[in-house]
Amino acid sequence: MRRHLIAGNWKMNLNGEQAVDLATAVASLAKTEHADVVICPPAVYLDQVLEAVRAVRLIGKDFSIGAQNVSDQPNGALTGEISVAMLEDLGVSYVILGHSERRQYLHETDAVVNAKLRAVLGSSLIPIVCVGETLTEREQGETLAVVRRQVAGAFSGIPAELAQKAELAYEPVWAIGTGKTATPEQAQEVHGDLRKLMGEQYNDQLAATVRILYGGSVKADNAADLMSKPDIDGALVGGASLQAETFLKIIAAARP
Ligand code: PEP
Repeated sequence: MRRHLIAGNWKMNLNGEQAVDLATAVASLAKTEHADVVICPPAVYLDQVLEAVRAVRLIGKDFSIGAQNVSDQPNGALTGEISVAMLEDLGVSYVILGHSERRQYLHETDAVVNAKLRAVLGSSLIPIVCVGETLTEREQGETLAVVRRQVAGAFSGIPAELAQKAELAYEPVWAIGTGKTATPEQAQEVHGDLRKLMGEQYNDQLAATVRILYGGSVKADNAADLMSKPDIDGALVGGASLQAETFLKIIAAARP
């Protein structure tokens, strides 16, 4: 049975004090007997958030801190970038890769996601690889083709021994920050197909164990329905992760 993972993506929100307050509230109140939790603050607050969380609970597999992005390069003249080793040094456990906002606004292609994924899989960090179609692509019946292309691109040339460390997130672009959520049935269809694809690209065991999160306007009142579906193994939560009470309700809604 795959244990659920609930990931909070704070994006470019909050100041240092707010980040510490939110992390402290979530870390001290989150019940994680039934699910793993990761919070992903802005990079500049990672250190403060790690310290705040360490003050109230042990950081481990069930509760950890993630970054929202990382460089594919180990070091060098790359102004503003942050390396995998720097995140490891801080005590970060996860990193989100290929978020649609980075694909859309920062021109991250499947090849860039692939390079970053290779860098991350060579480290102790766990990647959460995001894929998802736009509204036009869905309306044109291209959803499955698009997410298959994104997964194939991200994992191109990566062997199963490394790929098995990754988490996937299906995030339809039209549902991110819009208040529109995929129905549990729409999400399950894509999740089931992604799992099948991981079986084709790798093997049945990897397909059976890979966690596939759903993201896109997950809220306290739709989380349980979405996560009741057999191939939905948790949630990647944007807006609703910025309020401790709401995020805690989403954590509580994870399937035991
Ligand atoms: C996200 O940023 O990954 C996301 C799913 O955002 P929201 O929950 O706000 O739609």
